[in-house]
Amino acid sequence: MTTYQTILEKIKEHQTIIIHRHMKPDPDAIGSQVGLKLLIQHNFPEKKVLATGFNEPTLEWLAKMDTVSDDDYKNALVIVTDTANTPRIDDKRYSTGNYLIKMDHHPNDDPYGDLYFVDTNASSASEIVADFAYQMQLELTSDVARLLYAGIVGDTGRFLYPATSSKTLEIASQLRQFDFDFSEVSRQMDSFPYKIAKLQGFVYDHLEIDKNGVARVFLTKNIMDKFQVSDAETAAIVSAPGKIDSIVTWAIFVEQPDGHYRVRLRSKTVVINEIAKNHDGGGHPLASGANSYSDEENDAIYQELRDAVKQDKTLNKQ
Ligand code: AMP
Repeated sequence: MTTYQTILEKIKEHQTIIIHRHMKPDPDAIGSQVGLKLLIQHNFPEKKVLATGFNEPTLEWLAKMDTVSDDDYKNALVIVTDTANTPRIDDKRYSTGNYLIKMDHHPNDDPYGDLYFVDTNASSASEIVADFAYQMQLELTSDVARLLYAGIVGDTGRFLYPATSSKTLEIASQLRQFDFDFSEVSRQMDSFPYKIAKLQGFVYDHLEIDKNGVARVFLTKNIMDKFQVSDAETAAIVSAPGKIDSIVTWAIFVEQPDGHYRVRLRSKTVVINEIAKNHDGGGHPLASGANSYSDEENDAIYQELRDAVKQDKTLNKQ
């Protein structure tokens, strides 16, 4: 039996299915989570299917979460999408169900659950959910297609990042055959409030760039207050430094309410997720996140990025 078949069996065996995803959700987290929820609901209408987690205000246009009680977890199947490790799972009740499944596309450093399906070649968790639906011959709806398409668009930067494979495009093409406003989805993801445009101006003005194209910028609490932006809203400017041709790798240090920094790491070519792992984080080879607890650690992270890019440059010269 393939893992997809076992997942389908587990869905059939359970009356209640609760779907989780990672904290600080992005469109792929919500798209894969609620896309899977609506997929199961449509194909098994007698089942109770719920999506849980924080209602991220900037993504409410995509989907909203359900109210899930502790009782709902009794004998429930819990599926977690798009989440590499247990500390990042939103809603800690994920372990209180009857059976736990992980469906993800990040490196499988923490193979939690009773069963997992991990495909690091997939562009997004939404691509995996769509593939699962097609392989298992489940029927999709326009709402499911919209959510999964949004997830794929989000995690591929609109089919720009290297993880965009021919399979990604094939699946996106199949999803686009459904009746939903795909340009509105792309527009929602590509537009931001005026205050974010101003923050982007700040980022471009304050980038520190070394001679090998490694950049960093700090968004302190004072700056965030000045521009009136939340931590979640910084997602809209994370890709901005990458538009500069000379920048290879970059780090955006976002100060948190407790004073530590969430570090958003991105790279065009040089692998950076090992650096993220060394600093309380992880993620994909070219898109990772870390946490820094002092000015010294901020500098250390930047230095490690600089060393990685310098080493890569030296190796590629030989
Ligand atoms: P972000 O900058 O938060 O959009 O994160 C980029 C990628 O890194 C995503 O795939 C996240 O899942 C991953 N990531 C971010 N923060 C962490 C963390 N603290 N631990 C593990 N993975 C993370």
